[in-house]
Amino acid sequence: MKYEVVIGLEIHAQLKTDTKIFCGCSTRFGAAPNSQTCPVCLGMPGVLPVVNKKAVEYAIKAGLAMNCEIMRDNRFARKNYFYPDLPMGYQITQFERPIARNGHLDITLDDGGKKRIGITRIHMENDAGKSSHDPYRPVSLVDLNRAGTPLIEIVSEPDMRSAEEAGAFMRQIHAIVRYTGVCDGNMEEGSLRCDANVSLRLPGAPEFGTRTEMKNLNSFRNIERAILSEIRRQADILDEGGTIVQETRLWNADLGKSMSMRSKEDAHDYRYFPDPDLLPILIDDAWLDQIRADIPELPEAKKERYIKDLGLPPADAAVLTSSIELARYFETCLSLLDKPKLVANWVMVSLLALINAKGLSIADTPVSAEGLVELLNLVEKGEISGTMAKTVFEAMAESGKSARRIVDEKGLAQVSDSSAIEGIIDEVLAKNPAEVSAYQGGKTKLMGFFVGQVMRASKGKANPAVVNQLLEEKLKS
Ligand code: ADP
Ligand code: MG
Ligand code: ZN
Repeated sequence: MKYEVVIGLEIHAQLKTDTKIFCGCSTRFGAAPNSQTCPVCLGMPGVLPVVNKKAVEYAIKAGLAMNCEIMRDNRFARKNYFYPDLPMGYQITQFERPIARNGHLDITLDDGGKKRIGITRIHMENDAGKSSHDPYRPVSLVDLNRAGTPLIEIVSEPDMRSAEEAGAFMRQIHAIVRYTGVCDGNMEEGSLRCDANVSLRLPGAPEFGTRTEMKNLNSFRNIERAILSEIRRQADILDEGGTIVQETRLWNADLGKSMSMRSKEDAHDYRYFPDPDLLPILIDDAWLDQIRADIPELPEAKKERYIKDLGLPPADAAVLTSSIELARYFETCLSLLDKPKLVANWVMVSLLALINAKGLSIADTPVSAEGLVELLNLVEKGEISGTMAKTVFEAMAESGKSARRIVDEKGLAQVSDSSAIEGIIDEVLAKNPAEVSAYQGGKTKLMGFFVGQVMRASKGKANPAVVNQLLEEKLKS
């Protein structure tokens, strides 16, 4: 393709507060329609909003985690538009003085290099309600439970140049909001959602091309698919000498294509003005320091540390830091057994296979970090073989029993006692005289065959190191 792709994302994250941003109503997902409402979030005349301090704290936390400058004096503004699920006729958001601005995140590219993506601003706002359109009758229903849920909107600079970069940026935002605990990151339920602005231009062109905005992207896969589809659509129009219309488009994941939704408004269409019902928010040093102290090590930094200090391959580090629960599990194991690569392999292969197969989260895995380390210690001490450990892990996952107990109950302990192993070896050698003389005639590759036979005869319980050593001694004579 001859065009350069330009992408900027606008990401809405629902803040994980128990109550709404300007009233005390619950934010719980899935309640009966309109059961979590009050005069404030219903937009009744004469009511007064009161800011939820926790929501402000979370917005600051996200801003700090995304390397933003926090605006110590920020304020709310009214964004006026009419929509059936917006009972006040305006959204309370932030305009000229958002809570955070001028941030950035460094994403890792496929070739391992880094790229810095600018964050223009992060502002707080309330969510609207939800309309659903009855497919059988000409009516639409409005549920205002979501109205007044606190959101932050994270606006990126138009710094991304491909769908993959946009995906990497979104993945990092997802990880950060979850690490900091400001948002549950559940994209299916809409707790974290993304609008993608896409335009094309010829390389070296001084100005950006006209952009479209794609709404309703509720998974990483859909973000990448929708952007690729939009790039193709715009390229076809430009190739034929056409022009791109600035508009908002809606992505349909089932059809794998987008449709025009409305022409794009400009800021002046919204008649923004400072909300006279809400005082400016002033943030002092003490509060800022307290929030800063509460931010854990973030995913990119953790990933770098795993690579540099623990010597893990970048791919392992990326998987292990993809969620804070997984990273915590891994680090708990590591605090008990200082073998990063061994632990990483078990966590990435066995543990992830287990929770993916059962659709579990790390929190409810039947094999705890302590339990896994107990198993690995049995291998380290030579009590069971590595192969046997896989079987024991599966039994732990099924029964929830400890590794020790499973090994004892099923008699799986490795046999290292040389007299017991010698007996088995003698039988194997007696049964295979032709191979024995071939070995002694120089076909030393047959060692593998003998080891295999002995291991099979011992039902996998013989200690392979002892088997090897005894076999070599016996075959010499
Ligand atoms: P709004 O969509 O609310 O009008 P902005 O005009 O500030 O807000 O832009 C929103 C997003 O669009 C930002 O993420 C910005 O980086 C991105 N953007 C702006 N211009 C372009 C462009 N020509 N191509 C792609 N993205 C763009
Ligand atoms: Mg927009
Ligand atoms: Zn309310």
